[in-house]
Amino acid sequence: MISPAAIRNIMHNHGISCRKSLGQNFLIDNNIIHKIIASAELTKSDLVVEIGPGLGALTTEIAHKAGKVIAVEVDRGLLAALSEILTGPQNVEMILGDALKTDFDRLVGKSTGGEYGSTGKKYKLMANLPYYITSPILMHLLLGRFNISIVVIMLQAEVAERLAAAPGSKAYGALSLAVQYFAKPEILFRVPRTVFYPKPGVDSAVVRLMVRPEPGAVVRDENMLFNVIRSAFGKRRKTLLNSLTGSALGIDRETCLSSLKKAGIDPGRRAETLSLAEFACLTNSIMGVNS
Ligand code: SAM
Repeated sequence: MISPAAIRNIMHNHGISCRKSLGQNFLIDNNIIHKIIASAELTKSDLVVEIGPGLGALTTEIAHKAGKVIAVEVDRGLLAALSEILTGPQNVEMILGDALKTDFDRLVGKSTGGEYGSTGKKYKLMANLPYYITSPILMHLLLGRFNISIVVIMLQAEVAERLAAAPGSKAYGALSLAVQYFAKPEILFRVPRTVFYPKPGVDSAVVRLMVRPEPGAVVRDENMLFNVIRSAFGKRRKTLLNSLTGSALGIDRETCLSSLKKAGIDPGRRAETLSLAEFACLTNSIMGVNS
């Protein structure tokens, strides 16, 4: 663990400073670090990809428990500092790169000679995510269909609620459905803002996503499913009939009504009441597929 004074010192020595624009809030609490590490149930046969190692608060502990760590950091200055800090463990590979543009299977496959990656074994992903790109990173990880078994991430508490939300709740929306289509999310514990330096403006939570071997619903066209979900939540307070008619889906009121009926969904319901299975059924119905 590194204290705020040590962080300031390291940054000063490297002529760098905390970049708010890159979501740089460093963990400074050992208990939380250990709780996060324990959540991934690491063994020496695990390969872990870490996004945004920063100054290595999690990296060092992951390296102790896992077989290998591949850490992807976008900030060149931080990476230089990290390579000086991480002189102990020999099983950490540091990569300068943008997580949003990284093909993780390719990276892992290349680093392990194909032992892990798309045609090899599954790997784990861990991160104290930079808050400014939480959702894009999550969607990149899931839509990329990388060969990942579990994801353990820290993110804003409010976003964590959205990931794990069930139909009918206020937090339930397009993000909940997209994530739950690919994975089973579970909020493990909340983390106060006081365990970071600099202190962020929001509290956080640690979430574990068990990536599903098969998606959580059967649809003919995945993109269409996400379009239907986005359109339905586009006008959240309206009935499904009104939100879907005249939306980007380009379907008229009559088609919308008959699709809803065929899917056995009351046109007067609102998006937030529909389960993933019902959205899948509606999507297939709009596409003229009997399900
Ligand atoms: N893991 C460290 C910790 O827990 O103390 C730092 C976490 S800090 C919240 C987020 C880290 O992600 C920073 O090191 C930041 O530079 C890095 N980062 C930001 N955007 C990134 C991106 N697009 N790709 C990879 N790393 C990124």
